[in-house]
Amino acid sequence: MKFLRVLVDDIMDVFFPGSCPVCSSPPKMDEGYYACLECLDEVAWVGGSTCKYCGIPMHSVEYQGLVCSNCRKHSYSFNRGKCMFILDDVGKGVIHAIKYQGARDVLNDMPHWLDRCAGYRDFLKGAHLVPVPLHRRRESKRGFNQSLWIAHAIKKDLGSVVEVGDFMKRTRNTPTQTRLEKKERKKNVKNAFALKPGVCLDSIYKIVLIDDVFTTGATLDACTKAWNEAGIFNVEVATLGHG
Ligand SMILES: [Zn+2]
Ligand SMILES: [Zn+2]
Repeated sequence: MKFLRVLVDDIMDVFFPGSCPVCSSPPKMDEGYYACLECLDEVAWVGGSTCKYCGIPMHSVEYQGLVCSNCRKHSYSFNRGKCMFILDDVGKGVIHAIKYQGARDVLNDMPHWLDRCAGYRDFLKGAHLVPVPLHRRRESKRGFNQSLWIAHAIKKDLGSVVEVGDFMKRTRNTPTQTRLEKKERKKNVKNAFALKPGVCLDSIYKIVLIDDVFTTGATLDACTKAWNEAGIFNVEVATLGHG
Protein backbone atom coordinates (compact mmCIF):
# COMPACT_ATOMS: atom_id res chain seq x y z
CA MET A 1 0.00 0.00 0.00
CA LYS A 2 2.82 2.34 0.93
CA PHE A 3 4.46 1.73 -2.43
CA LEU A 4 1.20 2.58 -4.13
CA ARG A 5 0.87 5.80 -2.17
CA VAL A 6 4.43 6.87 -3.05
CA LEU A 7 3.72 6.07 -6.70
CA VAL A 8 0.53 8.12 -6.65
CA ASP A 9 2.40 11.00 -4.98
CA ASP A 10 5.08 10.87 -7.69
CA ILE A 11 2.49 10.88 -10.46
CA MET A 12 0.67 13.79 -8.80
CA ASP A 13 4.01 15.64 -8.59
CA VAL A 14 4.44 15.36 -12.34
CA PHE A 15 0.98 16.64 -13.21
CA PHE A 16 0.39 18.98 -10.26
CA PRO A 17 3.85 20.02 -9.12
CA GLY A 18 2.51 22.61 -6.64
CA SER A 19 4.41 25.75 -5.87
CA CYS A 20 6.20 27.67 -3.18
CA PRO A 21 3.41 29.25 -1.05
CA VAL A 22 5.30 32.56 -0.94
CA CYS A 23 6.61 33.21 -4.46
CA SER A 24 4.75 30.53 -6.48
CA SER A 25 7.90 29.20 -8.13
CA PRO A 26 8.11 25.42 -8.52
CA PRO A 27 8.62 23.54 -5.26
CA LYS A 28 11.84 21.94 -4.05
CA MET A 29 14.14 24.57 -5.59
CA ASP A 30 16.39 24.14 -2.56
CA GLU A 31 17.39 20.65 -1.52
CA GLY A 32 15.47 19.35 1.46
CA TYR A 33 12.88 22.12 1.30
CA TYR A 34 9.44 22.33 -0.29
CA ALA A 35 9.26 26.15 -0.28
CA CYS A 36 12.33 28.18 -1.31
CA LEU A 37 14.75 28.68 1.52
CA GLU A 38 14.82 32.42 0.90
CA CYS A 39 11.03 32.56 1.00
CA LEU A 40 11.00 30.79 4.37
CA ASP A 41 13.38 33.49 5.58
CA GLU A 42 10.69 36.04 4.79
CA VAL A 43 8.14 34.49 7.14
CA ALA A 44 7.84 36.40 10.44
CA TRP A 45 8.75 33.49 12.73
CA VAL A 46 8.03 33.77 16.42
CA GLY A 47 10.60 33.02 19.08
CA GLY A 48 11.86 34.37 22.38
CA SER A 49 9.44 35.79 24.93
CA THR A 50 5.86 35.38 23.84
CA CYS A 51 2.37 36.11 25.15
CA LYS A 52 1.31 33.31 27.47
CA TYR A 53 -2.01 32.78 25.68
CA CYS A 54 -1.77 33.68 22.00
CA GLY A 55 1.98 33.34 21.51
CA ILE A 56 2.81 36.67 19.84
CA PRO A 57 6.30 38.04 20.54
CA MET A 58 6.79 40.22 23.60
CA HIS A 59 10.24 41.40 22.69
CA SER A 60 10.58 44.25 25.11
CA VAL A 61 10.27 42.19 28.27
CA GLU A 62 12.41 39.15 28.89
CA TYR A 63 10.25 36.81 30.89
CA GLN A 64 7.61 34.23 30.13
CA GLY A 65 4.07 34.33 31.43
CA LEU A 66 3.47 37.88 30.22
CA VAL A 67 0.11 38.51 28.62
CA CYS A 68 -0.38 40.79 25.61
CA SER A 69 -2.84 43.69 25.75
CA ASN A 70 -5.32 41.82 23.56
CA CYS A 71 -5.36 38.68 25.68
CA ARG A 72 -5.61 40.70 28.88
CA LYS A 73 -9.15 41.59 27.81
CA HIS A 74 -10.16 37.92 27.80
CA SER A 75 -10.29 35.19 30.36
CA TYR A 76 -9.33 32.12 28.40
CA SER A 77 -10.00 28.61 29.61
CA PHE A 78 -6.78 27.22 28.08
CA ASN A 79 -3.60 27.57 30.11
CA ARG A 80 -1.03 28.59 27.53
CA GLY A 81 -0.57 29.05 23.80
CA LYS A 82 2.06 29.14 21.08
CA CYS A 83 2.05 30.28 17.48
CA MET A 84 4.69 29.89 14.78
CA PHE A 85 4.49 33.03 12.68
CA ILE A 86 2.73 36.36 12.28
CA LEU A 87 0.03 36.65 9.65
CA ASP A 88 1.55 39.37 7.50
CA ASP A 89 1.14 38.98 3.72
CA VAL A 90 3.75 36.22 3.60
CA GLY A 91 2.21 34.31 6.52
CA LYS A 92 -1.26 34.68 5.04
CA GLY A 93 0.03 33.20 1.78
CA VAL A 94 1.25 30.11 3.62
CA ILE A 95 -2.09 29.59 5.37
CA HIS A 96 -4.02 30.27 2.19
CA ALA A 97 -2.06 27.65 0.26
CA ILE A 98 -2.84 24.99 2.87
CA LYS A 99 -6.40 25.90 3.75
CA TYR A 100 -7.92 27.08 0.49
CA GLN A 101 -5.71 25.47 -2.12
CA GLY A 102 -5.32 22.20 -0.25
CA ALA A 103 -1.54 22.24 -0.70
CA ARG A 104 -0.73 19.71 1.99
CA ASP A 105 2.85 19.38 0.69
CA VAL A 106 3.58 22.84 2.08
CA LEU A 107 3.55 21.11 5.48
CA ASN A 108 6.50 18.92 4.42
CA ASP A 109 8.64 21.83 5.62
CA MET A 110 7.33 21.42 9.18
CA PRO A 111 10.75 20.34 10.58
CA HIS A 112 12.29 23.56 9.21
CA TRP A 113 9.41 25.59 10.64
CA LEU A 114 9.86 23.99 14.06
CA ASP A 115 13.61 24.68 13.90
CA ARG A 116 12.81 28.36 13.50
CA CYS A 117 10.38 28.56 16.43
CA ALA A 118 12.33 28.30 19.65
CA GLY A 119 10.47 26.37 22.31
CA TYR A 120 7.64 25.12 20.08
CA ARG A 121 8.72 21.47 20.14
CA ASP A 122 9.20 21.45 23.92
CA PHE A 123 5.79 23.04 24.34
CA LEU A 124 4.13 20.09 22.62
CA LYS A 125 5.97 17.21 24.25
CA GLY A 126 3.81 14.68 26.06
CA ALA A 127 0.60 16.00 24.54
CA HIS A 128 -2.28 14.63 22.59
CA LEU A 129 -2.50 16.96 19.60
CA VAL A 130 -6.20 17.54 19.06
CA PRO A 131 -7.20 19.30 15.84
CA VAL A 132 -10.01 21.83 15.99
CA PRO A 133 -12.77 20.04 14.09
CA LEU A 134 -14.75 21.30 11.13
CA HIS A 135 -18.42 20.52 10.91
CA ARG A 136 -18.79 17.35 8.85
CA ARG A 137 -20.67 19.25 6.17
CA ARG A 138 -17.89 21.82 5.79
CA GLU A 139 -15.22 19.13 5.93
CA SER A 140 -16.87 17.11 3.18
CA LYS A 141 -17.15 20.25 1.06
CA ARG A 142 -13.49 21.15 1.60
CA GLY A 143 -12.35 17.54 1.47
CA PHE A 144 -10.02 17.79 4.46
CA ASN A 145 -9.45 19.38 7.84
CA GLN A 146 -6.30 21.51 7.64
CA SER A 147 -5.84 21.34 11.43
CA LEU A 148 -5.66 17.55 11.28
CA TRP A 149 -3.02 17.86 8.53
CA ILE A 150 -1.03 20.22 10.75
CA ALA A 151 -1.26 17.84 13.72
CA HIS A 152 0.02 14.95 11.60
CA ALA A 153 2.85 17.05 10.19
CA ILE A 154 3.96 17.90 13.73
CA LYS A 155 3.67 14.27 14.82
CA LYS A 156 5.84 13.24 11.86
CA ASP A 157 8.59 15.52 13.18
CA LEU A 158 8.24 14.86 16.90
CA GLY A 159 7.56 11.12 16.78
CA SER A 160 6.52 9.17 19.83
CA VAL A 161 6.55 12.11 22.27
CA VAL A 162 3.18 13.26 20.92
CA GLU A 163 0.01 11.55 19.74
CA VAL A 164 -2.59 12.85 17.33
CA GLY A 165 -6.08 12.55 18.75
CA ASP A 166 -8.90 13.49 16.42
CA PHE A 167 -11.13 13.57 19.48
CA MET A 168 -13.54 16.43 18.82
CA LYS A 169 -16.54 17.17 16.67
CA ARG A 170 -18.45 20.29 15.81
CA THR A 171 -22.05 19.95 16.92
CA ARG A 172 -23.32 22.99 15.06
CA ASN A 173 -22.42 24.14 11.56
CA THR A 174 -21.50 27.68 12.60
CA PRO A 175 -21.00 30.41 10.00
CA THR A 176 -17.35 31.17 9.24
CA GLN A 177 -15.69 33.45 11.79
CA THR A 178 -13.85 35.47 9.15
CA ARG A 179 -16.35 38.28 8.78
CA LEU A 180 -17.47 38.47 12.42
CA GLU A 181 -16.54 40.96 15.13
CA LYS A 182 -14.86 39.76 18.32
CA LYS A 183 -18.05 39.51 20.42
CA GLU A 184 -19.99 37.84 17.65
CA ARG A 185 -17.21 35.29 17.21
CA LYS A 186 -17.52 34.21 20.81
CA LYS A 187 -21.29 33.84 20.56
CA ASN A 188 -21.00 32.07 17.22
CA VAL A 189 -18.88 29.19 18.55
CA LYS A 190 -20.36 28.90 22.05
CA ASN A 191 -21.29 25.27 22.77
CA ALA A 192 -20.45 24.34 19.18
CA PHE A 193 -17.92 21.65 20.14
CA ALA A 194 -18.02 18.31 21.89
CA LEU A 195 -15.81 15.31 22.49
CA LYS A 196 -16.48 12.37 20.21
CA PRO A 197 -18.07 9.48 22.04
CA GLY A 198 -15.70 6.83 23.35
CA VAL A 199 -12.61 9.02 23.89
CA CYS A 200 -10.57 7.37 26.65
CA LEU A 201 -9.83 10.15 29.11
CA ASP A 202 -7.63 8.00 31.38
CA SER A 203 -4.66 8.00 29.01
CA ILE A 204 -4.66 11.78 28.56
CA TYR A 205 -1.99 13.78 30.30
CA LYS A 206 -2.10 16.99 28.30
CA ILE A 207 -4.21 18.28 25.43
CA VAL A 208 -2.79 20.72 22.90
CA LEU A 209 -5.49 22.00 20.58
CA ILE A 210 -4.19 22.52 17.04
CA ASP A 211 -5.58 25.15 14.69
CA ASP A 212 -4.27 26.94 11.63
CA VAL A 213 -4.61 30.47 13.04
CA PHE A 214 -5.17 32.30 16.31
CA THR A 215 -7.38 35.33 15.75
CA THR A 216 -9.47 36.12 18.83
CA GLY A 217 -9.02 32.73 20.47
CA ALA A 218 -12.82 32.27 20.62
CA THR A 219 -12.83 28.92 18.79
CA LEU A 220 -9.95 27.54 20.83
CA ASP A 221 -11.60 28.72 24.03
CA ALA A 222 -14.89 27.04 23.11
CA CYS A 223 -13.01 23.79 22.41
CA THR A 224 -11.21 24.05 25.75
CA LYS A 225 -14.52 24.36 27.57
CA ALA A 226 -15.63 21.02 26.11
CA TRP A 227 -12.52 19.41 27.66
CA ASN A 228 -13.04 21.19 30.96
CA GLU A 229 -16.57 19.81 31.09
CA ALA A 230 -15.08 16.33 30.70
CA GLY A 231 -12.79 17.02 33.67
CA ILE A 232 -9.59 17.68 31.66
CA PHE A 233 -7.99 20.99 32.60
CA ASN A 234 -4.47 20.57 31.24
CA VAL A 235 -5.36 22.18 27.91
CA GLU A 236 -3.07 24.34 25.81
CA VAL A 237 -3.26 25.65 22.25
CA ALA A 238 -0.84 25.75 19.32
CA THR A 239 -1.38 27.40 15.96
CA LEU A 240 0.62 28.17 12.85
CA GLY A 241 -0.32 31.80 12.29
CA HIS A 242 -1.34 34.69 14.52
CA GLY A 243 -3.39 37.61 13.33
ZN1 LIG B 1 9.52 30.87 -3.04
ZN1 LIG C 1 -1.81 37.39 23.58
